[in-house]
Amino acid sequence: SPLFSAIEMAPRDPILGITEAYNADQNPAKVNLGVGVYYDDNGKVPLLECVKKAEAILIEKYAPRTYLPIEGLAAYDRAVQDLVFGADSAVVKEKRAVTAQAIGGTGALKLGADFLQRFAPDSEVWISDPSWENHRALFESAGFKVNAYPYYDAATRGVNFAGMLNALQTMPAGSIILLHACCHNPTGADLSDEQWTQVIEVVTSRGLIPFLDMAYQGFGDGIEADGQVVRRFAEAGGALFVSNSFSKSFSLYGERVGALSIAASSAEEASRIMSQLKRVIRTNYSNPPSHGGQVVATVLAIPELRQLWEDELAGMRVRIREMRNAFVSKLKTKVPAQNFDFVIQQRGMFSYSGLSKGQVAQLRDKHSIYAVDTGRICVAALNSKNIDGVIDAIASVL
Ligand code: PLP
Repeated sequence: SPLFSAIEMAPRDPILGITEAYNADQNPAKVNLGVGVYYDDNGKVPLLECVKKAEAILIEKYAPRTYLPIEGLAAYDRAVQDLVFGADSAVVKEKRAVTAQAIGGTGALKLGADFLQRFAPDSEVWISDPSWENHRALFESAGFKVNAYPYYDAATRGVNFAGMLNALQTMPAGSIILLHACCHNPTGADLSDEQWTQVIEVVTSRGLIPFLDMAYQGFGDGIEADGQVVRRFAEAGGALFVSNSFSKSFSLYGERVGALSIAASSAEEASRIMSQLKRVIRTNYSNPPSHGGQVVATVLAIPELRQLWEDELAGMRVRIREMRNAFVSKLKTKVPAQNFDFVIQQRGMFSYSGLSKGQVAQLRDKHSIYAVDTGRICVAALNSKNIDGVIDAIASVL
């Protein structure tokens, strides 16, 4: 049909392309550092014990598979809100926050983007340079013009804070500013507490609309510590959007569990917001799937399971930190002239390793080690068995 014959091939997803090439590689020593997934020390995606226990409880119930409410499972939404803002926070106690279950963190971002497109269609969106590669496409597909604010500084391997602050000070009031609440993807470079204080001050005083994306809560310095940025924004008052995901922190990637929370100035405002958010959901997918939300709600509701989750999440966080330390100390031995200490300062699953596009190509072609062209590596894909091979290969291309 002429309809289909005019359709051009869409560009390939750069990161999925890496995994395809990796899968086709016959070298038994191959390593995929291009992924965005946590692997355990055996190179496997873990199924958490807390999830197994919650699923056993759910199976026993043999509950009918009715539709969930449009905004998702009530127990899940409450538990997520307490986790994100703090059960004792003013926004939660004063019922100024709304939370809707979403199809993963991506779904939460899309709900927020569609909602904002209805009520702030003239605003432009600002994402960090660089950012998670789906942020731009997602807000553009919701109808926004998307700009980038300076973020990563390759020279210092840290944040170009002066550049970022200057952008915040000069963008139009009402701009939507997307911020990574913790564990910046792809760089691993986060703001300090003091820098966040300045960001919150400028965002609030200039009437910008903060949209915090929190896909890695618990992978930086712990659940509480990583949640502080969200809480500080909420305390500052004003409109606030928060997308969060349990894909990584519960290792529930395929179950698609996330949520969108919006903090408002009054309970009455919050109820109007929820009524409109439900419309956005209703016209997208009607209501969310139930299994993943039930698993997370069950774990968060039962104190022993919640403790188990916190311990298992701490285990993932500690293992990643051990891999960062091993990466740096082993490289120091092999290539003493180069300093990789910045890898230890970075937070979360990723590291902007400083490897060039050419070095990434050599790693792939000569050693079957796959990383993103930008030099982003997933530290959570390193383990005690593959790290020495990876270090030898990196040393040989430096
Ligand atoms: N936001 C960031 C920064 C991410 O890195 C990711 C996943 O990689 C997401 C959102 C999406 O999360 P989910 O897989 O739950 O949709």
